[in-house]
Amino acid sequence: MPTYNIPFQSKLPNVPTSIFAIMSGLANEHSALNLAQGFPNFESDEKLISLVNKAMVEGNNQYAPMPGVMSLRESIAQKTESLYQVNYNPDTEITVTAGATQAIFTIIATTIKKDDEVIIFKPAYDCYEPTIELFGGKPIAIQLDPEDFKIDWQQVRGLISDKTKMIIINSPHNPSGRIMTYSDMFQLEQLLKDTNILLLSDEVYEHIIFDNEKHYSAALFPSLAERAFIVASFGKTFHNTGWKMGYCLAPAQLTNELRKVHQFNVFSVNHPMQIALASYLKSPDNYNYLGSFYQEKRDLFLSLIKDSKFTSIPSKGTYFQLLNFKNITEESDYDFAIRLTKEYKIASVPISVFNNSNYDTKVLRFCFSKTEETLKRAADILCNI
Ligand code: PMP
Ligand code: GLN
Repeated sequence: MPTYNIPFQSKLPNVPTSIFAIMSGLANEHSALNLAQGFPNFESDEKLISLVNKAMVEGNNQYAPMPGVMSLRESIAQKTESLYQVNYNPDTEITVTAGATQAIFTIIATTIKKDDEVIIFKPAYDCYEPTIELFGGKPIAIQLDPEDFKIDWQQVRGLISDKTKMIIINSPHNPSGRIMTYSDMFQLEQLLKDTNILLLSDEVYEHIIFDNEKHYSAALFPSLAERAFIVASFGKTFHNTGWKMGYCLAPAQLTNELRKVHQFNVFSVNHPMQIALASYLKSPDNYNYLGSFYQEKRDLFLSLIKDSKFTSIPSKGTYFQLLNFKNITEESDYDFAIRLTKEYKIASVPISVFNNSNYDTKVLRFCFSKTEETLKRAADILCNI
């Protein structure tokens, strides 16, 4: 084994391994049910898999065009038009990415310079903050109230300075399951108009929304859309997180800058999958069912654990449910999550890792993107704690 002894200053000295890697590793090691990392334990549609296979057999196995296969960008434009009545030009305003993570990384690389401030809301998805820091930016992290995760827009206004370059929002929100209301989006609009502040709107769970609520995409608000990078993930929508396919919508000038970085970050992404997604995405039936599909899973999971000692407020969107365990133990959420995995054989995510200063509200996140059988097994375990 080579010995490394060259002085090296870490660019991310305080960043640990992602909680998703840690908890999935631990779940595997202890043969625990993995409700930690967010991924379905059922298969993607066979039709979609056959379409990928067909695209491979037909020889689409070399580099795709840098911004994405045109037929896929056209399908994305049609989908966006039919859902949000906004036209994004496939040629100049849509870029296909290697999942939402690469889109987010590339957006931040494109826009954030040293000392730029980026407002984020905690708990926050784990890739935002380190990526901002990698490019010399400064995350301005607003801790949300753990009861309702509501954004206080007056507080946000107070934190805006001449250094504020971008605000990152995420609705439906991972991990809380909260969604942005019309009033939230309206207030955000008021806040940003007459400023040069950009918006990164992480909408990877756009189709997973419950109780007849509506997803307010930034695309629906012209004065937000004109400054917004909107990020989507096919992994969430088509139950294939391992494919790492997604896209970014943004006005032409922003997309032009984004692609300057994208071409050196990845150049282009998986070719046969783009061809398959182009035709699969044409049918709205392939995603419009997701709200009721996941609502059933949420409701099943919550009804099965209603007599447990965990308490909860039903998730409004995403495939995550937060459960409060303060009636069970005073352990930290991190220690409890580890103990549950090792002793009770069920893995979850402690949400302190997404909070400012690891603020521990005694809450764990459970992913309910699982078969009925798995949800029943999980509930049996949770009811016996
Ligand atoms: N944003 C949020 C809020 C997420 O939950 C995830 C991951 N599931 C991502 C971005 C990254 O998505 P992808 O797997 O497509 O990179
Ligand atoms: N987005 C998924 C989650 O929140 C995990 C993605 C990852 O493993 N990086 O669980």
